Amino acid sequence: MSSEKVIEKRSMQTKNKILVATVSAVVIVGVALGIYFGVRNSDNNDSSNKSNTSTAPDPVPTNAPVPTSAPEPPPGINGTMINGTLFPYYTLTGEAPAPVGIDGKVYTNCVTPNTFSISFDDGPSQWTHELLDLLEAEQLKVTFFVNGDNQDCIYKPEVQSILKRAFESGHQIASHTWSHPELTTLSVEGITTEMTRLEQAFKDILGIVPRYMRPPFGDGTFGNGNANDLKVQNTLKGLGYVITTWDIATGDADIDDNKTPHKLSDEELMSKEQLEVTSTVEPAPDGAPHMQLMHDTYMRTIRLMAPWSIKYIKARGYKMVPVATCLGDEDPRTWYKLIGPPAATTPTTCTK
Ligand SMILES: [Zn+2]
Repeated sequence: MSSEKVIEKRSMQTKNKILVATVSAVVIVGVALGIYFGVRNSDNNDSSNKSNTSTAPDPVPTNAPVPTSAPEPPPGINGTMINGTLFPYYTLTGEAPAPVGIDGKVYTNCVTPNTFSISFDDGPSQWTHELLDLLEAEQLKVTFFVNGDNQDCIYKPEVQSILKRAFESGHQIASHTWSHPELTTLSVEGITTEMTRLEQAFKDILGIVPRYMRPPFGDGTFGNGNANDLKVQNTLKGLGYVITTWDIATGDADIDDNKTPHKLSDEELMSKEQLEVTSTVEPAPDGAPHMQLMHDTYMRTIRLMAPWSIKYIKARGYKMVPVATCLGDEDPRTWYKLIGPPAATTPTTCTK
């Protein structure tokens, strides 16, 4: 997508103890000693959460307290079941905190000192499983800004599988619109449809609706000649979205042709992409937060750039966290507008 290339260039099991209170009535009292774990949930756990009927209950707001009658996670899985959806890597107790990220506000960088988020747009793709393997090995959580119908159709079984794995691995799932348009070119109704159509897919497949989104190309926020487009921002605000962009773009979408043979050698590509990172990070004060954009739709992003970035960021002493976390929303219940059991049983097509 050529315009994107121009624009985006510019731019457990630690000892996590669920003290499940016992007896009769109540309560899950847990002590969260750690949040991130390197153990994947299995497909069995996923299917055990799914509703197979069209009578699945509607998702409910995430700021609702965890019901005291909520079922416990399956044996052997640490985590928290919320409204029928398992958060396998998080022990969440009590009421969800109030969200920190503000609806309709544009965040162009992380705010928490010493945090560094890396995020991946435009997927899932054929490379995303390989990225998830890397993140699992590194015990890192990131943010995926997902499309419904861009590189691939979100309803394809194999794409659903990748998306479920990302969610169940504890990564933040966020919206990147249904079909990756320039939002400033759309009417309010058009923008709304781009968001709500993907919301339906997320509800169908995962049972959640994200609170966080990133406009394709950053359009309507900066970088596209349409900065601060109030139609876009107010529409997203009305839909309850926190708008996030980036302060570092590696340029993968611009300078990697994703074909073989490549126009640029690995060394040439990495030199360009690494410069985009180092030229922003190194002049900034130590511990200054950063929000880095990449795309999980490029082989060399997954095999070369992401590993290099992780090593570089860790070496500088940063805490690597999802986008929402670095903006103050540390509880995953605040990452989503709705949490409930996945609803879909019938595949839906992706005609744009
Ligand atoms: Zn994109």
